[in-house]
Amino acid sequence: MREEHRKSKTLERVVIPDNLALFLKEVHREIVAGDEVAAIESDDLLQYEEYNFAYGGLNDWETGEYRFRYFPDEYKENEQHENTWDISLNKTDIERIVTREIKELSLWACPEDSCGCKFPDADGSCFYCDYVEQPET
Ligand SMILES: [Zn+2]
Repeated sequence: MREEHRKSKTLERVVIPDNLALFLKEVHREIVAGDEVAAIESDDLLQYEEYNFAYGGLNDWETGEYRFRYFPDEYKENEQHENTWDISLNKTDIERIVTREIKELSLWACPEDSCGCKFPDADGSCFYCDYVEQPET
């Protein structure tokens, strides 16, 4: 049993990595094209073989919010701890990242030095740092 003990996060400005911008360029292309993978709510309809470091989808049709999960580090087999960035963007944000008008994002970071996970909201919950193992009763 894992029990949640959430630690408070700190707001950070991070430079948008080039590969993430390339992934979002693909996403933007599908939004503009009106492709259904960008128009129906999902967690992971937006993903590409050549950009296997990120995936996401339209989170909320009404607000037009997209959510993405990005893996900032190179994939290593048997890695115990894989850092993730969870990112929330609307169509305008995505477009401005693609045109490089926006070069940075504000994300809430885990306070643990050993952890590089980041979240779109202050109440983000980290898989690695915010849970403690509880003995079965
Ligand atoms: Zn963490």
